[in-house]
Amino acid sequence: MTKAAISITSKLPKVGTSIFTKMSALAQEYGALNLSQGFPDFDMDARLIELVHNYMKKGANQYAPMAGALPLRQVLSDKMERLYGVSYDPESEITITAGGTQALYTAISAFIREDDEVIVFTPAYDSYVPAIELHGGKPKYVSLKAPDYRIDWDEVKKLVNHKTRMMIINTPHNPTGTIMTESDMCTLERIVAGNSIIVLSDEVYEHLVFDGKTHESVSKYPTLRKQSLAVFSFGKTLHITGWKMGYIVGPEYLMNEFRKVHQFTVFSCNHPVQLAIAEYLQDTSSYDYLGSFYQNKRDVFLDAIKGSSFVPIRCEGTYFQLLSYGTIAEDKDVVYAEKLIKEKGIAAIPISVFYNTQLDQKILRFCFAKKNETLLQAGEILKGI
Ligand code: PMP
Repeated sequence: MTKAAISITSKLPKVGTSIFTKMSALAQEYGALNLSQGFPDFDMDARLIELVHNYMKKGANQYAPMAGALPLRQVLSDKMERLYGVSYDPESEITITAGGTQALYTAISAFIREDDEVIVFTPAYDSYVPAIELHGGKPKYVSLKAPDYRIDWDEVKKLVNHKTRMMIINTPHNPTGTIMTESDMCTLERIVAGNSIIVLSDEVYEHLVFDGKTHESVSKYPTLRKQSLAVFSFGKTLHITGWKMGYIVGPEYLMNEFRKVHQFTVFSCNHPVQLAIAEYLQDTSSYDYLGSFYQNKRDVFLDAIKGSSFVPIRCEGTYFQLLSYGTIAEDKDVVYAEKLIKEKGIAAIPISVFYNTQLDQKILRFCFAKKNETLLQAGEILKGI
C-alpha cells in the first residue's frame, strides 16, 4: 500500500472487506464449492440478452429518463397491481435504480439526518447500517434469535420515540429465510401509524416464498403503504445479479424526496436494459414460476443433506438455507466456515457477521440458487462431515 499523502479520518472506520468477498476469494483459492455469496451458478434466459441487444441496435444508447424508462415503470405498476392489488402511478411513484442496494442507500440518504434513529432487525443485510451511519443516523437494533427468528414487537414498541425516523424491514429475510406474516404486518402498521416513521421495506426476494405461503408486501396494507418505500431487485427475479438493476415504489411525497437524491447519485440507469426488461416482464410467466422453482431447489438441497449431522432451520423463502453445526463442532461460526473451505472444500457464510453483536449460534448460510448437480455435490460433502 502507498503511504497516505494526507491524513484521513475514515467515515466508516469499522468497515473492512465484506464477508462475501472474503469467502468467495477463499473458495476460489481452495477450489471449494461456493454456496456462500447469493448468486445463481446457472444461466439466465438468453432471450433477455437478445432483447437488450435489439434495443442497443435500435439506438436506445443514450440517457434514460431520470426516474426510469416509462415502459418499464408502466409494466412494474401493472405487476404491483396484479400481485398486491395496489396501484402505483408510474409517473410519480416508481423509480428505477442501479440495483436494490442503491435504492436502499438513496432512500436512507434522502431521509436520515444526524441523530435520527433507525430501527434495524439483526441479522441484517450488510448495506443498511453503513448507509445509516454515513448520514449521522443511529441504528437501534432488535435482535432475532434462532431457530425461529420471529420479531418481538413489544421490544420494537419500546424503541420507538420521537427520534425514530425509519424502520428497515426485510421479507423474505436474508439471511434467515423467514417471512413476515399478515399478523406481523398488522402489528407493524399499528406501531408506525400516527408516528413520523418511514418504513423502508426490502422486498428483493418477493417471489421466493414457499409452501403455499404468500409474500406480505407493505404495499398490501393501506395505512402502512402511505409511509413506506418498497425495494425490489431484477438481479434476484431474473437471475442477473451482475446487471445491478432494481426499483423502488412509494407514495409521491416520499418518491419526490427520493428522486432529488437519486438524480445526483446515478442520475439514470442503463437504458437498453430497462427497455429489454420492460418487454420481457410483459409475459408474467417470466416470474410466476420462481416460487416453485426455488422451492424445488431448497428441497433438492435438503434431500441431499439428509442423514448428515447438520441440522436445517426452517426456510420459508429467499434462496438461503441455514444449517446448524452445533452437534459437530465447538468452533465459532467464522472459524468453522473457514475450516469448511480449507479442509472440506465447501463455502458458506457464518451468520454472526450479520449481527452488530457478532452473536454466534453455530449456524451457517448456504445459498441454493445453484444447479441441482452443485446442490447434490454439496450434499455429498456435508454428509461426509
Ligand atoms: N437486500 C437484500 C436482503 C439482499 O440480499 C440483496 C442482495 N444480496 C440486496 C438487497 C441487493 O440487491 P441488488 O443486488 O439488486 O443490489
